[in-house]
Amino acid sequence: MVHRPTDRPFSRRGLLLAAGGVLTAPAVAQSPQALVDYHAHIDAVGTLEALLEISRSKGVKFGVVEHAGNREKHRYRGLLGSDQDLEGYIARLEGKPCFKGIQAEGLDWMKSFSKRAVARLDYVLSDALTFPEKDGSLVRLWTPEARIDDPRDFMERYTAFNVQVIESEPIDILANPLFLPEALEKQAESLWTQERMQRIARAAAANRVAIEINSRYRLPSPKFLKLARAAGVRFSFGSNAHGPAVGSLDYGREMVKELGLTGRDLFSPAPAGRKPVQVRAPR
Ligand SMILES: [Zn+2]
Repeated sequence: MVHRPTDRPFSRRGLLLAAGGVLTAPAVAQSPQALVDYHAHIDAVGTLEALLEISRSKGVKFGVVEHAGNREKHRYRGLLGSDQDLEGYIARLEGKPCFKGIQAEGLDWMKSFSKRAVARLDYVLSDALTFPEKDGSLVRLWTPEARIDDPRDFMERYTAFNVQVIESEPIDILANPLFLPEALEKQAESLWTQERMQRIARAAAANRVAIEINSRYRLPSPKFLKLARAAGVRFSFGSNAHGPAVGSLDYGREMVKELGLTGRDLFSPAPAGRKPVQVRAPR
C-alpha cells in the first residue's frame, strides 16, 4: 500500500506496527494509533468518505471490509459477487488511507473470484456464523433462526465447522471467533471446553490464520486468547460495528493490557506474493 501525506493522522509508530514492527506492550496499549480496526464495514455510516472521517477523528486506521461471495446464497446489500465487482471496489479504495479487505461468505466464496483478483486485496476475513445445518440449509447464528435442540451435538459440529473454515478457505483472519447463538451464551464457559478451544487454536496456528479480538461481542474470552497465543496465533482487532461505533476497539485494548500483547502478537497484512490465496494449496 502507498503511504501518502494524507496518512499523517496515523503516526509513524502506527505504520511501523501495521508493517509488522514490534512495540512494547505499554506502547500498544497507550497508542490508539497503533490499533487497526480490520473489521470496518462501509454500511456502518453509509459512505466511504464518512467512514474515513471517523477513522481520522478516532485516530484508528481502518481495514475496510465488504461482504463477498455467491450472490444467490448471501443477500447482503453491496455484496461483491464477481471479479468485476471486486475490481471496482478495489479501485474505490485505491490510494485511500485504509486497508482493503473483504468479509468472505460461505465456504465456496472463492468460486466467485479469480485468485489474481483476490490477491489484490490486503486481506480476507471470514467467520463461522453462517452455519450449515445437517440438511444443508444455512443458519445465521446471530439471528433467531438459530434454534439449538442439543447443545453438545451443536458444539461438536460447530467446532468442526470453525476448523473447516480455517483449513479450507484461504483467509487471513477468523472474525467473530467463538461466537455462540444467544440461547447458548450463558453456557459459553462450559460449552467451550479446553479441547474444543484447542482444536480451533491449533488449526489457526497451523494455517497462519489470525484470530480477531472483537469489540462488538467482546469475543473471544481471555482464556481462549491465552491458549491461542501459546499456540502461536496472531491477533487482529475488529469493531464489526454497523453504526457509529465503528473503530471502537475497547475490548481489544483491554485484552492488550490483560495479556500484555506486543506488536509481535498482532496481525499485519501479508505482502504481495505471500497472501493466503497465493501460498495456500486449495483443499
Ligand atoms: Zn462483519
